[in-house]
Amino acid sequence: MVRVGLAMLQGARYEHAEAIKAASLQLGVEVEIIHLKMGKQVNAELDCLILPGGESTAMRKASQSESLLEAIYAWMSEHPTRPVLGTCAGAILLAQPDSTHEPFIRTGISRNAWGRQRDSFEAMLEVRLEVPVGKDVELSADERNQFNHQPLPVQPSGSESSAQQFHGVFIRAPRFEQSSIKCNPIVSLGEETVGVLDGARLALTFHPELTGDYRFHRWLLHRASNAD
Ligand code: GLN
Repeated sequence: MVRVGLAMLQGARYEHAEAIKAASLQLGVEVEIIHLKMGKQVNAELDCLILPGGESTAMRKASQSESLLEAIYAWMSEHPTRPVLGTCAGAILLAQPDSTHEPFIRTGISRNAWGRQRDSFEAMLEVRLEVPVGKDVELSADERNQFNHQPLPVQPSGSESSAQQFHGVFIRAPRFEQSSIKCNPIVSLGEETVGVLDGARLALTFHPELTGDYRFHRWLLHRASNAD
């Protein structure tokens, strides 16, 4: 059983819950998703965490009353080998935590650096990350969340692991400061790195939870079941 802590501060959080359910079916791994709203819910029982995308300033504000981010950062410092997936605003929170924590991914990041909301875009990406291939399972309509979000279809690309292509959705996304990247670049858009892995921390500047390709969620579950 893998216990997944999902930060419910703001943003695309329900889509991540759905993606985790799908990934767990694909891998045949049992999961429990803990919807984190208060710092006191963050404990040693959690095997991994997800910091969703949305608006990082709004998230920091939403965190204040129940100290959720503070507890998440403390947990990450205490459990460096337990995996964390941060997407978009979540990547910003990993690269720029609060004043008492060192960055959890070693790279600079610039907010809104592709432009304004209307400059949001989709593009094919190249992924270099070892991920177990999952069974071909889709969620049924009643396993989906109440917002009836329809994930973008996966491109038919032969074997996922060999094709390494991923449909990237960038929504007023941040950019890694390319010359400052001191961890492992694992996703690129042409020449530019848009996903990095630093130890057990995976930070993506796009929104994988909006597509029906759950490989990053499978990575999280697989890594969590093999962590200390
Ligand atoms: N623009 C947001 C921020 O600065 C990030 C966008 C996203 O998560 N889609 O926090």
